[in-house]
Amino acid sequence: MKQRNHLPEPHRCWAQIDLAALERNLRLIRGSLPAHIRYVAVVKADAYGHGLHHAAARMMHSGADLFAVANVSEAAQLRELGPGWPILLLSPVLPEEDRFLVELDLAATVSTPEEVTRFEAIGRAAGKKLKVHLKIDTGMGRLGVWHTDAPALCAQILAADHLELAGVFTHFASPDDDAAFTAEQRRRFLDALGRCKGLALDSLFIHADNSAGLETMPGKSPFNAVRVGLLQFGILPHPNSMLAQVRTEPVFSFHTRVGIVKALPAGTTISYGRTHTLTRDSKVAVLCAGYGDGIPRAVSNKAQVLIHGQRCRVLGRVTMDQTIVDVTGLPDIKCGDEVVLVGRQGEAEISITEFSRWADTIPWETLCSVTKRVPRLYRTPLGI
Ligand SMILES: *Cc1c(COP(=O)(O)O)cnc(C)c1O
Repeated sequence: MKQRNHLPEPHRCWAQIDLAALERNLRLIRGSLPAHIRYVAVVKADAYGHGLHHAAARMMHSGADLFAVANVSEAAQLRELGPGWPILLLSPVLPEEDRFLVELDLAATVSTPEEVTRFEAIGRAAGKKLKVHLKIDTGMGRLGVWHTDAPALCAQILAADHLELAGVFTHFASPDDDAAFTAEQRRRFLDALGRCKGLALDSLFIHADNSAGLETMPGKSPFNAVRVGLLQFGILPHPNSMLAQVRTEPVFSFHTRVGIVKALPAGTTISYGRTHTLTRDSKVAVLCAGYGDGIPRAVSNKAQVLIHGQRCRVLGRVTMDQTIVDVTGLPDIKCGDEVVLVGRQGEAEISITEFSRWADTIPWETLCSVTKRVPRLYRTPLGI
């Protein structure tokens, strides 16, 4: 509570990132899995908006075995933290990016025979073995070789002198709400794996499970790694998730401040498009953040924020730099007071899941929507 009135920096809108919570989460997730399961930390999209450098550096000390990023430029940022850490690219490599596979020592995802031929040529030209993970499409319909064609592609990789098969993986389409299809995807994956000849399973990363997948991960199987994104940031993949038992905590919180407070008479319409009309004489606060910071316009007239530990409703449309809220019930509110958009204030809490529902989206997208204008402050709250 003290912090609220003594902000050290004059920020208007910021995200607070609790790296100690990230570390605890990672240890909790690892602790909930059998000891032999290796941990692929998914840190694409700037570590889900938490900041790639800070998040990955902390995870290097907290039990990550391999990092997965979307693309070469994310991998380059990650590689700045040091050589040696295995990095997997989850997205396809463009032809102009080929040389970075060697320069940055990256493992590529392989889905097609053309990629195998291309990567083999890069490896040969560099006089090195390039690491690849074979991706098998078991029903996502995105990257990966269709599962019935996997054995042929696998054989092509194993026959390539300048490729080293480091892993085999698949990705679930509906792990959060379709257990039967997820089981079918697992079956297709294991079946394809069984038909790939000459695989040394123990020395490969065999991975399928993202956060929601962990709920149905079988105890005993060739799966020997998980590929976790959202859960490590303390967010459940769906509200009724049994992963709540793992007791991870939110790492991210989203804050702004009160710009002005003023009284307005009943009947006044609020903001662009006049979508809200005050039904009573009201006190409103204009907040120092809008969609230019990552408060989606979709939450107009829906979201609530925390001020002085109380929930206050958003009135009218969110604008680029400002958002208007009803503070009629808050006698002492003043310019500069801290506002929590996502996170805790006193006893009250707005989870990112609740916020995302107002925006008709999912926590993954909410985190990716926090803009560059918003500084990430790496601070663990005192007293917890
Ligand atoms: C993003 C991503 C993940 C992580 O998913 P979460 O649901 O955030 O845990 C895992 N695998 C692939 C291929 C991904 O693109």
